Amino acid sequence: MKIFLLEDDIAIGSALLSALQDEGHVVLWCRLASKVLARVQAEYFDVLLLDLGLPDGDGVEILTALREAGLTLPVLVITARESLEDRLGAFAIGADDYLIKPFAIPELLARLNAVLRRAGLAQDGADAEWRVGDLSLRERSMAVTLAGAPLSLSKTEFALLATLLKQAGRVLTRSEIESRVLPNSDGKTLDVHIFNLRKKIGEGFIRTVRGVGYLIVPDEL
Ligand code: CA
Repeated sequence: MKIFLLEDDIAIGSALLSALQDEGHVVLWCRLASKVLARVQAEYFDVLLLDLGLPDGDGVEILTALREAGLTLPVLVITARESLEDRLGAFAIGADDYLIKPFAIPELLARLNAVLRRAGLAQDGADAEWRVGDLSLRERSMAVTLAGAPLSLSKTEFALLATLLKQAGRVLTRSEIESRVLPNSDGKTLDVHIFNLRKKIGEGFIRTVRGVGYLIVPDEL
């Protein structure tokens, strides 16, 4: 997983950084509130670990701004603010979980996994299958089938479809997708790949959200 860690405390930040890296995560550790919004808009992250008390701002404002900007990435708040009011306030503005400092690293990892699992992003060793309607994608074996029939996708098309499918139900912005799938894009090739992908999997799966990006709508429960 690619994790954005916003934490100004050096001792806590470095402990979290090494614990998360030990788990195989890619971590960007940032200590300033002012850097976050632009970075998560420009680049794909699976989850944001958000401290609230920061030297140049407040995590509550960051979370509010992030949700107002339409960003839906999972956010796990890590803070010393323990009042019920603070906790409920954070959930009300779009936090996915809330962990009070001091906490034990294993609890953070467990909660992080739970957040990722709810977001459909949990990692496991098996050849995980992602599915919507009769479209299926298996990550390890790079197999995509439509109604059981195998499809031949390019590497980029596969990565694009995997990114959208894993986040089904969430609008991914163009720059989120590009940073993950097309890092050297000139800004136009994404549409070309989406066009080609739709020709192969059918028009119905990938929806365009005008001015924002794309999403795959998950099956209704
Ligand atoms: Ca802090």
